Amino acid sequence: MCEICRQTPCHPRCPNAPEPKPVKRCCLCGEGIYEGDEYLITTDGCVCKDCLEDFSINQWLELIGESLTTAEREE
Ligand SMILES: [Zn+2]
Ligand SMILES: [Zn+2]
Repeated sequence: MCEICRQTPCHPRCPNAPEPKPVKRCCLCGEGIYEGDEYLITTDGCVCKDCLEDFSINQWLELIGESLTTAEREE
């Protein structure tokens, strides 16, 4: 039993309490997504905000299933 809160497992506010459990896990970096965090649901899984901020335009397009078109002169 914990010496501080005298509970097993620890009271959530106890300094000995374990890290909060992630609600979801990012499918790209593997980091936990916790309550209150914003994330994106994709067909591959959940993506955390940190990963989204690192996305390039091509990754975004891939995500939404679009691709860039090369401009060609129309005759
Ligand atoms: Zn405790
Ligand atoms: Zn991530």
